[in-house]
Amino acid sequence: MTEIGIVAVGGYNEMGKNMTGVRIDNDIIVLDMGLRLDRVQIHEDLEVDEMHSMDLIKLGAIPDDTVMKEVGGKVKAIVCAHGHLDHIGAIPKLAHRYNAPIVATPYTAELVKHEISDERKFRVKNEIIPVKTGGTYDVTPDIQVEFIRMQHSIVDAAFAAIHTTEGVILYASDFKLDRTPTIGEAPDFQRLRKLGKEGVKAMVTESTNSGNSGKTPSEQIAKDLVRDVLLGTEETEGGVIITTFSSHVSRINAIIQAAEEMERIPVLLGRSMERYMSIAEKLDLIKFPDNLEIHGNRNAVDKAFKRIINDGKEKYLPIVTGHQGEPNAILTRVANGETHYNIESGDKVVFSANTIPNPMTIANRYALETKLKMRGARLYDNVHVSGHAGREDHWELLRMISPEQVIPSHGNIEMHANYVEMAEDAGYVFGDTVHIMRNGEEMII
Ligand SMILES: [Zn+2]
Repeated sequence: MTEIGIVAVGGYNEMGKNMTGVRIDNDIIVLDMGLRLDRVQIHEDLEVDEMHSMDLIKLGAIPDDTVMKEVGGKVKAIVCAHGHLDHIGAIPKLAHRYNAPIVATPYTAELVKHEISDERKFRVKNEIIPVKTGGTYDVTPDIQVEFIRMQHSIVDAAFAAIHTTEGVILYASDFKLDRTPTIGEAPDFQRLRKLGKEGVKAMVTESTNSGNSGKTPSEQIAKDLVRDVLLGTEETEGGVIITTFSSHVSRINAIIQAAEEMERIPVLLGRSMERYMSIAEKLDLIKFPDNLEIHGNRNAVDKAFKRIINDGKEKYLPIVTGHQGEPNAILTRVANGETHYNIESGDKVVFSANTIPNPMTIANRYALETKLKMRGARLYDNVHVSGHAGREDHWELLRMISPEQVIPSHGNIEMHANYVEMAEDAGYVFGDTVHIMRNGEEMII
């Protein structure tokens, strides 16, 4: 009889640093190796690229994978289902400890390569294997990993189904059930229903927004919001600047399309904007208009701003980093008067993002907005829809998959409790078929 264990390594006590192990007898599949960004940002001068894993573990910035030593078995593959930093950001610090390939969807695999190339402390030599959604990877003769097409706030997101002789373990994090996505196709509902019919032994899923009532609106809604807001700013002439998540390729694409309608030149500014968007273009996920500009490093950004001011602000739409008020991000530098782009009375600043609800980002955003207002900017807040499933999306997925056991991850205990309540409504029993796990635990299923 094969024994299957779920190992909660990181992301079960908090938002961020996600890492889960699935042990099938002595073979282990690691799902995600993420970074917890707020634990890095709280120290002003951390050079993460040069830091040792153990120091980052002590800070709570990366998963404490020392638990893996206590779990019997050997890691055979590291699987990443999407490219957000809270899922891949710890790979440069942890992956070299395992003699195992990194398996990811093509866009995610490219991002992993870039993360590794930034690393200055460790030599990470794990093979990186891109697998398209709909495809599988043979981990051992008895274990396959299948990527199933999903939608999320980054392109090329997937669920990972681990096929074993004892049945399927489904890793369902992160996701939204978006039937009208603006890039890529809707989730592969047909495949998910089939998996559900065949029988899923356990599902590990995100709990993040399981406390939010209803269903998360489609990205198409965000696209319409962005267009309406941006075109509406054109009633008076002046500067318009917009900020969003640099990894949100669909959103940035919607902004670029609105810029075309406004007859403004879209200018992507910031290192992370350059990274996420140029990889998306390289992989043919998006097509840039001919007049689009991208400037990554600080010198190029400063030069671009100088030229924009000389040519006339009203001809350009800068798309910038800094929606959370991060120190050193471009919008923060603009608000501080550190660039040539001086905000004048009546200039518009659009936030195509929510405020991440931790005290530090709330404070940063407050400072940023106050500085912008003091210069006379008009602000448009929360031109955004979430990339995470709401409570009724969770209900739908749970009923569709009907796993024997379900374990919420990707959240704090309050989020897990919200998930458990929803699961109880669907007939699951706390402690019997729906479980709350804490970092460092293994559960045998
Ligand atoms: Zn994510």
